[in-house]
Formats: sequence, structure tokens, C-alpha cells
Amino acid sequence: MALDPLPDLQRIFGFPDFRGVQRDVVDRVLAGQRTLAVMPTGAGKSLCYQLPATMLEGTCVVVSPLIALMHDQLRAATAVGIKAATLTSVDTNREETIARFRAGDLDLLYVAPERASNESFRNLLSQAKLSLFAIDEAHCVSEWGHDFRPDYRLLRPLLDSFPDVPRLALTATADAHTRADILEQLGISQEGLIVSGFDRPNIRYAISGRDNVNRQIADILEKIPGPGIVYAQTRAATEKLAEALGRSGRPTRAYHAGLDPQVRAKNQADFVASEDMVICATVAFGMGIDKPDVRFVAHAGLPKSIEAYYQETGRAGRDGDPAIAHLFWGAEDFARARQRIGEVEPERQAGERQRLTAMGGLVETAGCRRRILLKHFGEERLEDCGNCDNCLGNVDAVDATETARKFLSAVFRTGQMYGVGYIEGILTGVSSERSLMNGHEALSVYGIVEGDEVALLKPVSRALMLKDALRTNPHGGLEFGPAAKAILKGEAAVSIVVPPKRERRRKGAVGA
Ligand code: ADP
Ligand code: ZN
Repeated sequence: MALDPLPDLQRIFGFPDFRGVQRDVVDRVLAGQRTLAVMPTGAGKSLCYQLPATMLEGTCVVVSPLIALMHDQLRAATAVGIKAATLTSVDTNREETIARFRAGDLDLLYVAPERASNESFRNLLSQAKLSLFAIDEAHCVSEWGHDFRPDYRLLRPLLDSFPDVPRLALTATADAHTRADILEQLGISQEGLIVSGFDRPNIRYAISGRDNVNRQIADILEKIPGPGIVYAQTRAATEKLAEALGRSGRPTRAYHAGLDPQVRAKNQADFVASEDMVICATVAFGMGIDKPDVRFVAHAGLPKSIEAYYQETGRAGRDGDPAIAHLFWGAEDFARARQRIGEVEPERQAGERQRLTAMGGLVETAGCRRRILLKHFGEERLEDCGNCDNCLGNVDAVDATETARKFLSAVFRTGQMYGVGYIEGILTGVSSERSLMNGHEALSVYGIVEGDEVALLKPVSRALMLKDALRTNPHGGLEFGPAAKAILKGEAAVSIVVPPKRERRRKGAVGA
């Protein structure tokens, strides 16, 4: 007879009902079926294995990639009275945990993936009854995923040596390609895939060109008094931002892996408890943090993929109240990302490049951001969302092909070695010692851009880099990329999104 999980959900977790696809997932697990659950951050993935773990006989083995994450989960599970333990290199009570496992006294046993290849661990698992294998952050098993971890490949033989124990893989972030790969890698059939809705309708998305990012983010603080997260690319940048934003009078903290662990933990705890704090963090921040009232997430630079962007922005507005996600980007971000891709293992470059292009499509679009975002996760929308910067009309897409040709022409005529600023100077006819000495003031492109067109030069340079018509050399000089020729010849058009004007952006403010 099928088990009804609802009474246990209410009794153990105190929730009146399941949310979204939780019920479907739990039912499959209780029926012993293999499942891959793709659910956005905050959708309540942990419950999908924690609840069956309390209902089924035996221990549920949870594979999780980060020790810190495991300890968070352990605390949460223990708090509701679930018998749980972690078995990791940093735990000092391993003997006790092993004894409890053997005695059948654990509902949940959290382990790191590297343990899976360990013969003695396999032996241990065969000494007591197992109820379930839960594989958290399952995208780590896929080279197509954005966070491949070779250790996850060791799981399959372990799972296969317990063929009767059901398996549940969970992830928040998986595009179609990654999903298919997870299913195959973990031996789950296609019908075991359960995907929950990805839309977060209360989050308003906005994406702008970066220009004085401190001020741009300070503007957000002015509009939104509630707690916020600002993601920056480097540790140093998080500290600088925290300092600059602190001058607005808001409490601010930095958070990155280089901080003393005690300081880091305190900053995180302060943030979780605060109603107005802004935390400036690297992407290390946020995993396992349960703060429902984050009112904004700002990015000071480009995230490395749409998955990462979605996960990071998803930390805003978990309580369902209005929240905003504002990303600021510059052409340099793409140049840097391309450089980084050049340094990863050759097999992974195609995937990384595809992720960067998808991210480029999202920032460059003049259309509805949410539609692009959801489409990326396999949800087709026919309607525009009405709650992103582009839908709210804060965008002006213009055809800038002529300006782009002038720009490329100036790069070419000056020998493909100068940076954006110098090329701008030539095109706008700003005389300098350098341009005089180089004899560039005699070029036909000197001073051919004037009036309103001047404002297009920076966005055009960004668009050209995005399209790979221009590349930067290690000294910051611009040179032609493969897409330059077609544009110069007038065979390809360049349209750009002019960053929203400040006054108009204010109109779209979200009260908090
Ligand atoms: P995820 O791992 O998918 O990001 P969590 O498992 O951390 O999400 O759950 C997010 C939050 O939602 C937690 O605070 C959790 O207690 C809560 N939650 C989970 N399931 C339910 C439910 N059925 N009803 C109400 N709250 C829930
Ligand atoms: Zn929209």
C-alpha cells in the first residue's frame, strides 16, 4: 500500500502542505523509483529526501559536495528531530557515527563524494539497511554542468552495487544538456525527470552597462531599504564596495573566502539577522543561507553562466514579496571570461563558451529578460513578463551598424593595438600628444563621430567584443576577431541596447 506522506510532513516539519513538485518527488521516492528533481533554489529540495528518510526503514545516504553545506543541513535536520550525522574528514565523532549507522539509529548520513570510491566505505554501507541515496547538487556529475566535480563520477559504481536502493538526484541548475547527462551518468531513466517551475515572478530583473558601479549600486540602496547582496568578482572588490557603500549610512559587510573564518561567520550571521544590511560578497556567499527577506541582489560584474546568475539572483525575495535583481556588466567581463575559458581543459571549453554566449544573449537582449531566462531552463513563455527592465520600457535598442563600422575602421587604421579610450579619442577628434605623435590626426576617421553618436561608442565597443568582432590583447589593445569583416563590409548589422537612463530607471523602483 502506498504511504501517505502528508501527516508526517505536518508532524515533523510543521508545514501544512507540499509545495510545487515536492509531492511528486516524495511519492516516487517512497515507491522506490529513481528520480532526478530539478528545482530552483528555495523550492525545498532537502525535504524531498529528508521526509522519506524519516518514513522508510534504514538510512538515507546523502552525497553533498561541501562540508559547510552538510553541516548547515545537519543542523536544520537535527532541529526538527531527524536523526542525522555527517561523516567527513573534519568530524571528530566518526566512531560514534559509524556505530549509530550500524545500529540503524540514523535517518540521514551526509558524506562527501570522494568517500564513494573508498572500499571500506562501501563495506560499511553493506552492514546496515539503506533507504535511499540522495545526490545533492547533482549537476556536479556532468561535464556540461557549470560546476563539474570529478569525484561525482565515482558515485555510479557505488550506486550500482546497491541496485535495490532508490536514488534521488537533486539540482537547482541544469539546462537540457546537463539534465540528460545527469540521467545517464547516474543511471536514471528519462521518465524519472521531474522539473519544477523556474519562474520567480516577484523578482524584477534589470541589466545595465557598468559605469561607476559604486554609484549605480548606491542608487539601488537609496531606493531599497531592505537587506541586499552585492556580488563582486574578487575579494578585494567586495571589500572596496563594502567600504564605499558603507558611506551611504547603511550597515555593510564584506564576505569572501579570504576572511578569517570567525569574521566570515559573524558577517553572515549579522546579515541573516539584519533588516537593512548590505553584504558585499564573492559567489562563495549564499549557499545554504536561508534568509527569506533579501530585497535585492546586485551583480557588479558578469556571472559565469545563466545558471549561476539564476541561482545568485534567486536568493532575493524568497518570501514572495517584491525584490530586484540588477546586473551591471562591461565589455571587459567578456574579455576576461574568454581568457579564463582559454585556460580550462580543452574538453570543457566548448561548454564554457556556450554558457558565455548564452549569458551574452541575456545581457544584450532588448526583449523580455524573463523569457530568455525561462527558455534557458526549458520553459517557453509566449507573453512578455512586464516585470523586467526591458518590458518596463527602460530600454532603447538602436541600430548602430554605421557607428560600429567607424569604430572597426579606426581600430584597423591605427594598427589594431590601442584601447577603447584611444579609439574613442580618434573618432571624436580629441587631440592628444599621443595622437599627434602617431600621426593619427591625419586619418580619415579622425573626428568623424560627433553629437549624439558619441554616446554610442562605448556600448558599440562592448557589442563588438561580445560578437567577437573585437578582441583585447594582453595589454588591453583592441584587435580584430573573426566577426569583424562581415560588419565592416556591411554584411552584418550591430544593434545595441543603450543602458537605461537614470531618471527612467528610477521610475521602475520597487518599494521594499
Ligand atoms: P533548496 O535546497 O531547494 O534551495 P531548501 O530545502 O533549503 O531549498 O528549502 C527552502 C526553504 O523552504 C526552507 O526554509 C524550508 O524550510 C522551506 N520549505 C520547504 N518545503 C516547504 C513546504 N512544503 N512548505 C513551507 N516551507 C517549505
Ligand atoms: Zn520581461
